[in-house]
Amino acid sequence: MNMVIMMCLLATMIAPHQDLVSIDIASSQDVRELDALGVVINEVYRDHVVAEIGHDLYAEVARRGYVPVLLQQNIDEVYLKNFLDRSGRSQYLTYEQYRDSMVFFATNYEICHLETLGLSHYNRVLLVMRISDNADLDETEPAVHFEANVHGDEKIGWGVSFSMIKYLVEEYDNDPYVQQLVDSREIWIAPMVNTDGFVNHTRYNGRGVDLNRNWGWMWGNEYSCGSDFMSENEAWYFGEHFWRHPFVTYVSFHAGTIYISEPWSYTTYLQPPEQNLIHHLSQGYASNTGYPYGQGSIGMYPINGCTKDYDYGCGGEVGWSVEVCYQKTPSPDSIDVIFERDKPSMLWLMHKAGQGIHGLVTDSLGSDPLRAIILVGPSNWHSYSDEANGDFHRFYLPGTYDVTVMAPGYDPKVFEDVVVPSGTPDSSVYLDVQLVPNPYLPLYATRVMGTRYVSTSSNMTYPVWALFPNDGQAYQIDSGKWIVLAFDNPIRDGVGDDMTVYSTSASGSATVRVSNDWRGSWQTVGTATGLESSFDISATGLDSACYVRVEASGQFMLDAVEAPLLTGITEWGGGEAVVGAVSLMPTVVSSRTLLSIFNHDAQPHMLNVYNIAGQRVRELFVPAGRSEVSCTGMSAGVYFFTDTETQETQRIVVLK
Ligand SMILES: [Zn+2]
Repeated sequence: MNMVIMMCLLATMIAPHQDLVSIDIASSQDVRELDALGVVINEVYRDHVVAEIGHDLYAEVARRGYVPVLLQQNIDEVYLKNFLDRSGRSQYLTYEQYRDSMVFFATNYEICHLETLGLSHYNRVLLVMRISDNADLDETEPAVHFEANVHGDEKIGWGVSFSMIKYLVEEYDNDPYVQQLVDSREIWIAPMVNTDGFVNHTRYNGRGVDLNRNWGWMWGNEYSCGSDFMSENEAWYFGEHFWRHPFVTYVSFHAGTIYISEPWSYTTYLQPPEQNLIHHLSQGYASNTGYPYGQGSIGMYPINGCTKDYDYGCGGEVGWSVEVCYQKTPSPDSIDVIFERDKPSMLWLMHKAGQGIHGLVTDSLGSDPLRAIILVGPSNWHSYSDEANGDFHRFYLPGTYDVTVMAPGYDPKVFEDVVVPSGTPDSSVYLDVQLVPNPYLPLYATRVMGTRYVSTSSNMTYPVWALFPNDGQAYQIDSGKWIVLAFDNPIRDGVGDDMTVYSTSASGSATVRVSNDWRGSWQTVGTATGLESSFDISATGLDSACYVRVEASGQFMLDAVEAPLLTGITEWGGGEAVVGAVSLMPTVVSSRTLLSIFNHDAQPHMLNVYNIAGQRVRELFVPAGRSEVSCTGMSAGVYFFTDTETQETQRIVVLK
């Protein structure tokens, strides 16, 4: 190892000692200034903060006129001593002991299923446990997620969430309430998000990044927030997990103060949509623990790029940072005490995940599950159905709501006056949602991957307003800022223009780039100006693109990015179906489109076409190479194309 790399490693592994101090402040602007210097703010009061300050920061803090008053010298050594204390009833586990314990639970308890999401930058495993009946299956049950140790020195959060795993496996056979919760929910618990930070006893990850500043909703302008949004392994692997398994609620345990911190943390100028629902759940959590609750930016201090803002902003999942202890790593005897305090609230959240609006979204023709966007009025804040199963679950209080379900390539469906009944703590309404394919509707962006922070004193728009078809509601991208959008169905290169960028303002301009990797590299397709700008992606050399990045060079009101579903000869959604050596394309056709068949074999093949009643309606002779077939005359419905030689079958949907 060369000397320079060695020095860098040592620099990230051995942080300077931290003192716990009190610092007088004149205004909330001072909190912001101290935070930006790298002082770790724990508790915020009207006239002072309690904070941790590295020995290397004293000079700079003093130069700016602050006077730290020492409360505890080398607080990190106190925490390390507590971590290593083996004298009492309880103890903290080391990373290795924790890892092996998770494997033990998964091996010995049927209700546990362990997933390794990925590796940290120093190759330590990032684990999450799914606790449910049929734990190995992804079922259509409401999901909740608990995690801890996003900050590696806040080890009490590890204790609380790890204790919940122990509690559930031990009580499952004894306690009917625990059994009912485990059987009817998917309970995800990730006690150690930042494994490198845990091992190094530091707030930051293995690369010195604060993971609660690295997420994609309004990312940037923070101390140690990473080189780009979601640049860190831990953020991205957990982010992928969130998209695979949409949760009703998300709790991230922290320590350093006592607070239930709600969205938003990035702004004091906006309250989150449906704040009444969030408050309701916070109040329930507080009723057992006594923790105060409120909007994070107001009750604590504003930060960009935190996990709960991403969960609620990008995913529509109600999320909190729950700060459970003034000390980040209190004596090990505190683990049981704090777990007992939080346990009833954690169980209550699991229970409440069943209350509200639930449903299943499928394709009306093929009954395949669909990932769809669920909008619940009056606020019309979004959430998503599960990609694998099509199920969705949203917490709502008893009342009447309008529910809109949308997926690209399908007619939207509106359910008016959906009633969430009252009665039990988890009374709910269930919607069976069958979406009808419509390949004549344009595709649109379905999720926000990341945005550069904007000044919310002058910009009250939300990034998600750039999703959906163009609807007159736009996200204001301020000059020099950007947004990265994802398409569930890729934009494809066809005849002529392939995509259109809509703005609600005739002024402003933005550079439009595309990629098949959200991290880039990005290929520029052109500059959007005015209300509508169309682009051909063929100039980029890509034949399709899943991600679009819009960068404003002058304030740009981004309403939507759309792409026609049918381009040129047509390809639809997932593309082609393969029957042995024979490919069929597209998998959805109409009387206006031709079915393309490509026989990869040198010999001709014969396909039998069956309707859903199992009756053979057609025989197709397929020569070697490419041929085309018209489906005119076939009535709308699902057909099975079976190779007479291999008996392999594929499904084709014919629209009227
Ligand atoms: Zn924290």
